[in-house]
Amino acid sequence: MHRVIVIGRGLIGSAVCRHLSEQMDGVVLLGPEEPADRQTHTGVFASHYDEGRMTRIVDPDPAWAVTAKRSIERYADLEARSGGIPFFTNAGYLGIGAPGSDYLDRSEAVGRELGADITRLDAAGIRQRFPFLKVPDDADGLHEGNRAGHISPRAMIRAQIAIARQQGAEIVADEARAVRVTANGVEVETAGGATLRAEQALVATGAFTDACGLSPVDLDLRVFGRTVVLARIEDDVMAELEGMPTLGHAGTGAYILPPIRYPDGRRYLKIGIGTTADADLRSLADLTGWFKSSGSEANRRDFQAFLTALVPALQRCRDWHTDTCAVAWTGTGLPYIDYAVDGRIAVAVGGNGKGAKSSDDWGWLAAQLVAGGDWDHPVPRDRLRLPRR
Ligand SMILES: Cc1cc2nc3c(=O)[nH]c(=O)nc-3n(C[C@H](O)[C@H](O)[C@H](O)COP(=O)(O)OP(=O)(O)OC[C@H]3O[C@@H](n4cnc5c(N)ncnc54)[C@H](O)[C@@H]3O)c2cc1C
Repeated sequence: MHRVIVIGRGLIGSAVCRHLSEQMDGVVLLGPEEPADRQTHTGVFASHYDEGRMTRIVDPDPAWAVTAKRSIERYADLEARSGGIPFFTNAGYLGIGAPGSDYLDRSEAVGRELGADITRLDAAGIRQRFPFLKVPDDADGLHEGNRAGHISPRAMIRAQIAIARQQGAEIVADEARAVRVTANGVEVETAGGATLRAEQALVATGAFTDACGLSPVDLDLRVFGRTVVLARIEDDVMAELEGMPTLGHAGTGAYILPPIRYPDGRRYLKIGIGTTADADLRSLADLTGWFKSSGSEANRRDFQAFLTALVPALQRCRDWHTDTCAVAWTGTGLPYIDYAVDGRIAVAVGGNGKGAKSSDDWGWLAAQLVAGGDWDHPVPRDRLRLPRR
């Protein structure tokens, strides 16, 4: 009999496992590896199969900003304790404002409260600092220099798991099929035919949670398919993009990752924009079908046009491709970190499209909940409760 089974080996689940295994023995992390071949894969997928996720403190919502700050402050320690698995690149962040939007003002106010390293820039300042950007004369920028940039979600999970293993956690590469409350705890049935038993289970299966029916309480998540577009960056273009930060564009919601090296040894620059036409993914078949697809052709065309207008050097890129991912939105805009069945089954679900940067701190909160520790945190527990409780 284990103490806790954490279901979901993603950004939040691996963080929960790492924090919990610091406090207790008997922690199991249950979740599959990233599939080697998406097309022939028959199981679930995840929202972290990539090399770039933006991270920064500034955010209009103080809850996201403070959890990002607390997470970012732990990145270096995680990298060191994992035996040297680097996952954070301090590339900085530039938010580009839009006339009529107060997004940057609200982000700046929250960032200043938390001591973020921020500078406001006008169009001339943006062009001087980042000469590869073509911005209009009324553009406005918010730059966060230190402790902002991007993380490799794959490497961050590897780091979390390496530490969790050192602390005695057991990792089981399988999928959960069902979670049940029993007379003295819970049992989790796996796709591989095993039954794991523990005092408690914590479900951290991201966008797949509702479709897999793993929470006893309906989370009513809204899950959208997202298409991202990647441009391969050769050395001549790279030379012009030196010092490129991560970028957010308030007017369109576009987010752009600077050139990052991928497992094939090449560098790619990535753009994504959430649109209202994004695929609404409800069933497991919807989700797996989406992850096996090449995404939206209209998005590919529109994102490429937007990106090459903003960064004209990219017009020289000859190799463009798409990738697919999914985001899980909660009704509150924050993750649900709460018990679905008191003392037995908890959930930590709902990245709301920006769960990577704060994942270590959401994991800390979920570990406190399950371990019965003090909720000594600036985000009140009530803000993370499940709906209709
Ligand atoms: C295109 C895109 C861009 C993004 N960009 C950013 C960004 O720049 N910055 C940022 O902060 N966030 C970003 N995000 C959001 C971020 O990636 C997610 O919020 C984050 O991955 C959520 O973490 P999670 O642990 O909840 O889910 P995941 O990371 O998806 O992990 C869930 C895990 O559960 C496992 N699982 C699923 N079903 C089962 C099952 N039945 N049994 C066992 N395990 C199961 C999966 O295999 C997976 O490992 C982006 C998301 C997308 C899609």
